[in-house]
Parts: sequence; C-alpha cells; structure tokens
Amino acid sequence: MRRTFIFVLTLLVCAPLFAQEAKSQEITPAQLWTILEAGNKTFVAGSIAYTQLKTERSQLAAYQSPPVTILSCSDSRVPPELIFNQSLGTLFVIRSAGNVVDDFGIASIEYAIAQGYTKLIVVLGHSSCGAVVASLGGADPATPALTALAMRIRSSFVGIPYDSRDPKNVQRAVEMNAKAAAVSLLARSKLIRDAVLTEKVKIVTANYDLSTGEVKRVD
Ligand SMILES: [Zn+2]
Repeated sequence: MRRTFIFVLTLLVCAPLFAQEAKSQEITPAQLWTILEAGNKTFVAGSIAYTQLKTERSQLAAYQSPPVTILSCSDSRVPPELIFNQSLGTLFVIRSAGNVVDDFGIASIEYAIAQGYTKLIVVLGHSSCGAVVASLGGADPATPALTALAMRIRSSFVGIPYDSRDPKNVQRAVEMNAKAAAVSLLARSKLIRDAVLTEKVKIVTANYDLSTGEVKRVD
C-alpha cells in the first residue's frame, strides 16, 4: 500500500485548488487508525520502500501537519515510521524508555494538538520492553533518573507479581504500562483531555510484537 497519509496531506496542505475537496475528505481518527493498520500489515509482510523521499522533502520543507501522534518506547526495534509504513510528515513522535511521558513529552503532544495537527494519539507499548522488565524487579536502578522511570512504570502495575521471569507477566505489565500512559495524558493535561472529550482527538493504546511485527490494540 502506498503511503496514504502523503496523498491526504497533499490534498489538505499543498494544493489550494483542492481546498473544498479536502474539506469534504477530512480524515477521521478511525480512518487514520485503519491506515496505520494497513501500513503495519505491509511492514509485517516484510518489505517496504521509500521511493518518493525527494518529492516528499520538497513538499514538506516549509510545512507539516502530521495527523497522528505516537508515544512509543525508545527501543531501537520499535521505529514508528517503519512499523506503520509511513514516511516524512505523517507521524509526530514522542519516544522514551518505557513509553512514559514527562512534562516535556506532554508539552510536545499539546503543541501538536494546539497546532491542529493531531487527530489520533497512539500509545504504543511493545513486547519484552526492557524498561518494563527492569521495573518488574531485579537490580536497583543505577541513577536517580532511572529510579524515577522505574517508579513511574511500577505505579501502573496492579495485581501482578514483581517477577519478570514469566513472559506472560511481562506482557501484562507492558499492557498495563501503556494503558497507564494513555490515562496519564488525560489526567495531566487539560488541553489533551478537552481535545479527547470533544472528540477532536482519539487515543488508541496498542502493543507491538517484536517477533511478528504486528501492532494490536490493547485498549
Ligand atoms: Zn521498551
């Protein structure tokens, strides 16, 4: 599947003659999620191509309007653009170990909403997340910042043992942590909360499987 976002963005952004048409074709959060799912299927199949980067760079040099914000882990195996088969200008990405947000992450998302970019926020956890595994037990974190991260992630664990040896336990913790991050966005930001309550923005919580490449909703 070609990168549908670029087509939509071209209509919305780069061609004033299409203004009326673009308005009638305004894309919904549900449609955006469908596009991401389709892109993920392409990624799972094992081959994606970036053949229009020069054109896309040119079109987007002076402007962006990425309709999707992704909050994901910093893990090198979870690059949002690749796993959703998206290119330049489509994803506004906030990444941290364990896909948690601090004030600056919240500010980044608020900025994207305030600019009118974001219609869909995806909070993306992933299988075998090292930050979650570390937060489930083992050695004490080595620094105050790492301790703060582990404490934040641990605060999302409800009713699960602090034991990272069982993969099912780890996966439960990963999903709890992702759901907690989504709730945290609503709890900590009035701007995000209002955007969701007025249905201008939708939040989806999902999990990425490192082995299969599949993204599935967990909310
Ligand atoms: Zn991770």
